Amino acid sequence: MSDRTIVIGAGLSGLAAARELLRRDIPCALIELRARAGGSLCSERSAGFVLDSGPMAFERERSGSLPDGPWPEEAFFELEDQEGGRRLHALREGSEALLQPLMDPLPTGALLTRMAVSSLGRFGPGFAICLENGMVLTAPALVLAAPARAAGRMLYSLCPQVGASLRDFDHDSITRVTLGYRREDIPLPVPAPPDTGFAFCHWTDHPARVPRDHVLLQLGLRMLPADVPAALVIDELQANMGWPPTHIVARVARWPGPDCLEPHEPQHPGRMRALRQQLPAGLTLIGSDYGAPQLEDRVRQARDAATAIADWLVRQSGKRDR
Ligand SMILES: Cc1cc2nc3c(=O)[nH]c(=O)nc-3n(C[C@H](O)[C@H](O)[C@H](O)COP(=O)(O)OP(=O)(O)OC[C@H]3O[C@@H](n4cnc5c(N)ncnc54)[C@H](O)[C@@H]3O)c2cc1C
Repeated sequence: MSDRTIVIGAGLSGLAAARELLRRDIPCALIELRARAGGSLCSERSAGFVLDSGPMAFERERSGSLPDGPWPEEAFFELEDQEGGRRLHALREGSEALLQPLMDPLPTGALLTRMAVSSLGRFGPGFAICLENGMVLTAPALVLAAPARAAGRMLYSLCPQVGASLRDFDHDSITRVTLGYRREDIPLPVPAPPDTGFAFCHWTDHPARVPRDHVLLQLGLRMLPADVPAALVIDELQANMGWPPTHIVARVARWPGPDCLEPHEPQHPGRMRALRQQLPAGLTLIGSDYGAPQLEDRVRQARDAATAIADWLVRQSGKRDR
């Protein structure tokens, strides 16, 4: 059996867990479905704007939980928020910058991309990881950092009850619309959007994110059918909000079913505790769907989980040596 602990999913959670394992001298490898690591964290530059198609905002007060910096004061700016008075910050360079301190220390060959895990099983005292391409890997321990629906499928035969519960989690869909305007076209401050249909609305005219005298708007729209063309999404949004069709940049990022509703339920922590107790020792489950709703919670959860796995591996090797 390989001695590398496998982390499934190279989003922020998986990368933060891998970083912690490596810090504790536990060899590990990440398996990622897509061609790039980062999961929903994705930033790009266009026409002088810095756009985040995934998460943009987080609570700086809890930035001790961000991936290891250094994160100097100048790396952040305060965001205008229409989410109910929370003091939110964003990174000047875009949220994807959070990934760099996690990616840099990864040894060559530790990140395996374009590989989908289909199912998990036992292999001796450890685990077998079956990939959709037919490969089977083995590992002494597993960090499962994929969303609940994917993790539910992977656990189908290893932990049928946990798998079924995860596949049962309720989801919403969020379409993130990002629009860049000349400042004169948008009255500031941007008023809160109507309650229904909007998951969030942020705006900024910070010079790190927009050209001079411009403004960047980010809205999350709920429950929008996936087949509505991007141009129509923008037209309707502009009509609803009273914004002109004079935007300079526009992005419509669809994340079908990303927003797991369970963590918002009061019974979720208890339910997760019960599910975790059914997991075999040496396997841990991390990510937003499992009770870490904010970005900074996710990093802390990943570090704690990796620490627990590292301690468990040390105890196992102690037992074997005796
Ligand atoms: C549109 C959108 C906006 C958001 N905005 C915010 C925000 O403003 N603030 C905030 O705090 N959070 C926000 N979130 C939540 C966001 O998901 C998290 O902040 C964080 O990036 C999640 O990291 P993660 O690693 O837990 O999950 P993900 O980023 O989803 O990573 C999971 C990884 O697992 C991989 N994977 C899935 N299936 C498999 C498989 N079978 N085999 C191998 N790999 C697999 C995926 O490809 C992905 O890379 C937003 C999410 C979305 C989608």
